[in-house]
Amino acid sequence: MMMSSCSAGPEGGYGSSYGSSYGSYGRELPHSPGYSATPPQQAVSSITTPSPKVSNKTKDRLGHKPGPKNFGTVIIDAGHGGRDSGAVVGGVSEKTLALDIARRLQSKLRGSFKAVFIRNGDYFVDLDRRVSATHKFDDAVLVSIHLNHSSSSSVRGPETYYFRVDSYSLAKRMQRAMAAVSPSEKSRGLVRRRLRLTRNPQIPCALVEIGYLSNSSERKLLAQSSYRDRMADALASALKAQKRSGDSGMGTLPAPLNRPLSRPGDRSGL
Ligand SMILES: [Zn+2]
Repeated sequence: MMMSSCSAGPEGGYGSSYGSSYGSYGRELPHSPGYSATPPQQAVSSITTPSPKVSNKTKDRLGHKPGPKNFGTVIIDAGHGGRDSGAVVGGVSEKTLALDIARRLQSKLRGSFKAVFIRNGDYFVDLDRRVSATHKFDDAVLVSIHLNHSSSSSVRGPETYYFRVDSYSLAKRMQRAMAAVSPSEKSRGLVRRRLRLTRNPQIPCALVEIGYLSNSSERKLLAQSSYRDRMADALASALKAQKRSGDSGMGTLPAPLNRPLSRPGDRSGL
C-alpha cells in the first residue's frame, strides 16, 4: 500500500536526510529556474534561448538510459515496518508479509546476486532514508515490496510501479512473472508513477504490490506461505532474466521524463 502509509504517513517528512542527500542534486534539475540569482540580462537570454541540455550525469541520475544487464546487487526493500504496519486486514498485516516475501526473495537470489536488505526486522525506516541507503550502490537495482489495499473489495491482482526509463523492462518482467502466478492476472498492472521509491533513487528501481489484502480471496492466498514463495520465485526469475538479457524482448522503452523529486504529499501522477 502506498497512498496513505507510504506517501503521507506520519513519518513521511523529508527531514534531515532530504537536505543532506538531495540538496545539490535538486539544484541541478533543469526545472529550477534560478532567476532570483541571475542578472537581468542573463534572465532575458535564458527566456529567449532554448533551455540548456540535460547533462549526461543528470540523465544517468534520472535513469534516461537502457535498463541494467549483468548487474551484481539487488537491494530488497520490505515496505513499512515497526509502528507503520501498512495495510492491516483480517489480522493480516502488510509489513509482516512484505518482510516474509523479501526474505524469501533473498534466499532465491543466492548465487546470482548480492542481496541487501533495507530492513531485516520489524522496525521503521523513513522513506527518504530508504532512498539514501541506495546511494552507496551503483551496480544495483532496488525492488520495494508491498501489499495493496483498496476501498473496493473487488479490486485484486498484482501491480508494479516504475518511473525511470532504465526501470521499465525490469518492472515489466516482474509484473508478467507475478501475473503468471496470480489467478487474477491484470493487463493494466504495470504503471508508470512518480513515487519516492520509483523516482528518487539514482539506480533502476521498481515497487511491486504483490496483491490486495482488501480482497478476501486474494488475502487468503497471500496468507499462504506457498503462494508468497511462488511470488518470490516470480520476482527472482524476473531479476535473473533482466541480468541475463537486459531490455532485450521487452519492446520499446518509454520516453524520458524530467520530473522533480517525489516529496511527501505529492499526488501520485507523473
Ligand atoms: Zn505499502
